[in-house]
Amino acid sequence: MKLILLGPPGAGKGTQCKRIVERYGLVHLSSGDILRAERAAGTELGKKAQSFMDSGGLVPDDLIISMMAGAMTKAKGGYVLDGFPRTVVQAEGLEKALKKAGQTIDAVVDLQVDDAVISARMTGRRSCPKCGAVYHVENLKPKKAGQCDKNCGALVQREDDKLEVVANRLKTYHQQTAVVVGYYQKAGNPILRINADQPIDQVTKTVLEKLDSLKK
Ligand code: ADP
Ligand code: AMP
Repeated sequence: MKLILLGPPGAGKGTQCKRIVERYGLVHLSSGDILRAERAAGTELGKKAQSFMDSGGLVPDDLIISMMAGAMTKAKGGYVLDGFPRTVVQAEGLEKALKKAGQTIDAVVDLQVDDAVISARMTGRRSCPKCGAVYHVENLKPKKAGQCDKNCGALVQREDDKLEVVANRLKTYHQQTAVVVGYYQKAGNPILRINADQPIDQVTKTVLEKLDSLKK
């Protein structure tokens, strides 16, 4: 199965992706996670991406398309794309990469949440810089405050989850990313619209039910 997860930053894409990949044995391809790994490794791509990420803007399309096409080639079998595509140009680039690989997208999952909810989700998010686990200070607390459950050490707040950047990321989403779902609607891909303003487990239940019925 090959899936795309769409939705604003903080909608719960990463959280749900982890559960989807576990259930169906897929590979999780998060453009944000890949970019953060490039930055941590100090690569050219990581250096180029830095200023865009820190300001809440988008990394240029050409860099992202080649980065994700490379990741898709390495993934054997099915995968879930998380955070990509974020513009119509990226969706077109993805289409080309899929054609070249002889692949198609089985469904687009659109996590729908209002901005008012999103802001609290992003500012309350805490991430493990070592294993990538994601928590929330209220909604998904670690067993010990501020510490990763997998004994990795201290959790951190991403720089771009601070209030000053969050507003810009939401603006970027509305200006450039919200239209992407329309691209897939026009293309005739199955779109699973999910009310993501529900508790995490409830969202998972709805997503998995819809994906199960798609597989039948
Ligand atoms: P995204 O990958 O879309 O940016 P995340 O999955 O990282 O979003 O979720 C953002 C934050 O919101 C995290 O701290 C996560 O624990 C929390 N969260 C995710 N889904 C929900 C939900 N349905 N209800 C409440 N909090 C949520
Ligand atoms: P995320 O972890 O998905 O919230 O992404 C963090 C940041 O990485 C975003 O705010 C962007 O600056 C950058 N980024 C991630 N994915 C993309 C993408 N598909 N296109 C452009 N920039 C991206």
